[in-house]
Amino acid sequence: IDRLDVNFENKPCYEIVISDDFSNLREELGKIDIEKKKICIVSDTNVASLYLETVKRELNDLNVFVHIFDAGERNKHLGTVSDIYDTLVYNRFDRKDILLALGGGVVGDICGFAAATYLRGIDFVQIPTTLLSQVDSSIGGKTGVDFKHYKNMVGAFYMPKLVYVNINTLNTLPSTEFTSGMGEVIKHGLIFDREYYYRLFENSKKILEGDPKELAYMVLVSQKIKKQVVENDPYEKGQRAILNFGHTLGHAIEREKKFILSHGQCVGLGMLAAFDICIRKNKLTEEDRKFLKELLHVYSFDTDTEMDVEKVLEATLNDKKMEAGKIKFILLDGIGKAFIDREVSKIDMLEALNSIC
Ligand code: NAD
Ligand code: ZN
Repeated sequence: IDRLDVNFENKPCYEIVISDDFSNLREELGKIDIEKKKICIVSDTNVASLYLETVKRELNDLNVFVHIFDAGERNKHLGTVSDIYDTLVYNRFDRKDILLALGGGVVGDICGFAAATYLRGIDFVQIPTTLLSQVDSSIGGKTGVDFKHYKNMVGAFYMPKLVYVNINTLNTLPSTEFTSGMGEVIKHGLIFDREYYYRLFENSKKILEGDPKELAYMVLVSQKIKKQVVENDPYEKGQRAILNFGHTLGHAIEREKKFILSHGQCVGLGMLAAFDICIRKNKLTEEDRKFLKELLHVYSFDTDTEMDVEKVLEATLNDKKMEAGKIKFILLDGIGKAFIDREVSKIDMLEALNSIC
């Protein structure tokens, strides 16, 4: 078992526990005082069919309820949150009770938002089961849902009481979902930790074979990076924005491609495009770009795609991350060091997009 303490506004807030099964979950929940509480496990259909029985068995001495919704981003909306409220009201959940999010980022974001808002806030625990949720969405307290066609438009910053990771849930993850999570993992190396980045290449065989030790190490380091960035800037007033590396263009590509490509796949493309800008600003070399491309191939990313470049640019300029009409673009000043650049022009972006298609 590995552990990380996460602070919020300079105070200890919650613990991340990394384990290789669910056998320690009951004990860890005991530490956050769960004995007399009602617990509602919130999960999606895919994850529930794989892990719900095991988790329920571990908690069989507790008062457990279950709410399951259909898997998929298309269900990340207020209606699903409203259904959770129904379950909670029907079963008379009150302020001291608790929700358990068992699943990927969709479950975590929805359940977290339900917890943040039901009775003005009840406790919740994250049990992330995708690579993306383990290294990214379960840390940092962003919760929320999509609204109409706007992603993550409605939400709240709301911290969990515990994040419990069972690394072996990754064994059942479809390979496209694994690749999607690797987009964030590679990003973490690029923005913060050069050695970790190169290690992802050296140890790719073990990682792809699902070697539990190597996977646990990778998840732990990624969590440490995300934790450090969000601790320093919990409400994204400044430096937290570096986590958006590859995302400014990545999100726009995702939209232009009508969400057929996974998020991580688009982040991969967005990072490659950002490399093009960095090279022209003399911050990275052609060698760096070749290496990233190779690394992305190793983890089954496509590194070029057909797209309507003008449309992607338009979508980029409409992004909600604009500030005073200027895009906060994240670039690298060498591998492992990110910075915010407000001087990236339309032409820079256009050329960058042309470099990946
Ligand atoms: P997801 O939750 O939809 O999971 C992907 C698919 O894998 C789903 O079909 C799910 O049912 C299935 N699945 C989950 N765990 C599994 C397992 N162990 N074995 C087999 N199948 C499994 O998607 P995701 O990629 O985990 O998360 C994406 C969401 O996270 C997006 O909505 C995004 O906006 C959000 N997000 C939030 C934050 C944040 O800070 N809150 C950060 C990044 C992303
Ligand atoms: Zn992302």
